Amino acid sequence: MLSERAKKIKPSPTLAIDSKAKAMKASGIDVISFGVGEPDFDTPDHIKEAAYKAMKEGFTKYTAVGGIDPLKDAIIDKLQKDNGLVYTREEIIVSCGAKHSLYNVAQALYGPGDEVIIPAPYWVSYPDQVLLNDATPVFVKTFESDSFMVRPEVLEASITKRTKALILNSPSNPTGFTYDRKTLEKLAEMAVRHNFFVVSDEIYEKLVYDGTEHISIASLGDEIKKRTIVINGLSKSHAMTGWRIGYAAGPSGIIKAMMNIQSQSTSNPASISQKAAVEALRGPQDFMAGMHREFDHRRRYLVDELNTIDGMSCMMPTGAFYAFPKTAKLYGRKAGDKTISSSSDLALHLLEEAKVAVVHGAAFGDDDYIRLSYATSLDDIKRGVGRIREAVGKLEV
Ligand SMILES: *Cc1c(COP(=O)(O)O)cnc(C)c1O
Repeated sequence: MLSERAKKIKPSPTLAIDSKAKAMKASGIDVISFGVGEPDFDTPDHIKEAAYKAMKEGFTKYTAVGGIDPLKDAIIDKLQKDNGLVYTREEIIVSCGAKHSLYNVAQALYGPGDEVIIPAPYWVSYPDQVLLNDATPVFVKTFESDSFMVRPEVLEASITKRTKALILNSPSNPTGFTYDRKTLEKLAEMAVRHNFFVVSDEIYEKLVYDGTEHISIASLGDEIKKRTIVINGLSKSHAMTGWRIGYAAGPSGIIKAMMNIQSQSTSNPASISQKAAVEALRGPQDFMAGMHREFDHRRRYLVDELNTIDGMSCMMPTGAFYAFPKTAKLYGRKAGDKTISSSSDLALHLLEEAKVAVVHGAAFGDDDYIRLSYATSLDDIKRGVGRIREAVGKLEV
């Protein structure tokens, strides 16, 4: 009955873990979740006020499909100010979240026979969005010793005549690492030489630590800018996951195709959210410093603690809000008559025995790791790591 396309797709594994943890919580179990990928901070009040105002003023109707001009202009100014990128309104589309922008890019660019290179570990939706368009995801392994940046020579070896695009995510979900300028320059040179697109997901740009600089690959020259679609949004930077506002910036021909696709699917993103987004981009940004400081504090606490757990090791990430400890040393250890032999086994064991939700690395294409989000209170982080330490300590070698 179902289409071949529908059969190829699996539900987002991160959302699946989260819903299992929520179900346990609802049944009265005290579950601590490191599973979620959203800030635990509330949307700032001045942004909510802008939404109330939009409603009261009756700004509750359809808008232009790709977003209202004041929002496009606010995005244009943001890209210029933060990233040194100059775009016109025709080169911007606002969608229902960055995920939706990525989906529109996939629909506009990928088709049968196309190969799309995805460095692994990767964010869960990239491969499925490629598959949904009957194109082929090509995974390129990255290594902890390279801070999980794809090695240019490894990338080069995977390029073929069919290579349509490379999906980059910096800072990265799940690894928490950020690409440096030197590597980005090499990747940009390669994209121009082999003439493929770069889809650059920069949703965590505001969350970088220890003086790390976020660089948009599109800013490295005109030739690479012509081949880059920059993806960003307000979910992570402004604690606005539920408002569903994301955007893409890129060549007008591609943006126009995305607009046509959006016009036949969702139409415009919510009018009220768009007004709130203008305020988010134009209004005071001071709350961000507090959120940043808190994330930074949790990051250092969590990573330091994970490194004291026997069998785990975790590099200090430079961005986003995830710790990505290596757990492969634990595989083979036993819990009663069960053997933990993969990241899924470990995640399930931690959920059932320690009542702690983490995401298995296999969901991101690397079974040697698990992902912990620290977008949760320091208190929960303290209790949660304690439980992990205890459960891991009980495993028999
Ligand atoms: C959260 C996330 C997104 C999606 O954000 P929305 O704007 O809420 O759709 C996109 N990419 C990555 C890597 C993310 O972690």
